[in-house]
Amino acid sequence: MTPTPDSDPTDALSAVPAFGAGRGLAPTGRLRFFFGPMDCGKSTLALQIDHNQARQGRRGLLLVRHDRSGTPTISSRMGLARNALEVDEDMDLCALVRDHWARGARVDYLIVDEAQFLSPDQVDQLAELADDAHLEVYCFGLATDFRSTLFPGSQRLVELADELNAIQVEVLCWCGRPGRFNARVHDGDVVRAGDTVLVADTAPHPGATPDTAEVRYQVLCRTHYRTGDLGPHLVSGRQLSLT
Ligand SMILES: [Zn+2]
Repeated sequence: MTPTPDSDPTDALSAVPAFGAGRGLAPTGRLRFFFGPMDCGKSTLALQIDHNQARQGRRGLLLVRHDRSGTPTISSRMGLARNALEVDEDMDLCALVRDHWARGARVDYLIVDEAQFLSPDQVDQLAELADDAHLEVYCFGLATDFRSTLFPGSQRLVELADELNAIQVEVLCWCGRPGRFNARVHDGDVVRAGDTVLVADTAPHPGATPDTAEVRYQVLCRTHYRTGDLGPHLVSGRQLSLT
């Protein structure tokens, strides 16, 4: 027999047999991270995967950190939504799954939205659940924050995940180039310092509180992220006409 075909010979860990290799057909858990900029359809994909799994009779838990709707749901900007459990900062995700088991509930998979906000320890717990409890774990989130550096949770996912998937729905900068950077915009200027976590929407919205109304996020290409050029469009929430 030749070595297992799923190991990548260029991978530094390729000497380690793939998890589940030689163990027959028993399903094994994998930790997957789907990442992309804002508005690339991460939550929509999360809900689609949940639907596909549930249709096969599998039972899952939907988890979210700092959901944009303000209530624990996984909600996509296309209008789909499902109730989810909010993951607190100190929540032990292994204990969470054990609690469900103790109550007789089956858990076959986990879907975690806004996974960039997980703590590194919580990502380690997800890896443990994939390895030891054979759960399928699907994480969705942003890779980098408004400073263009990896969120701690995303960094740990990059380090530990079995699969890293860049979501292929292209989000465009105002100039038409692919947008990969999530700029934080405060009163019309790109901000490059401050708290990593500041939940705000990608457009002004009527329900915004005075504290968050002037902070929003905008996806930019690298050039315009670097130069801070937000393009000839929204100023203070009003659409300017171009002549
Ligand atoms: Zn641009």
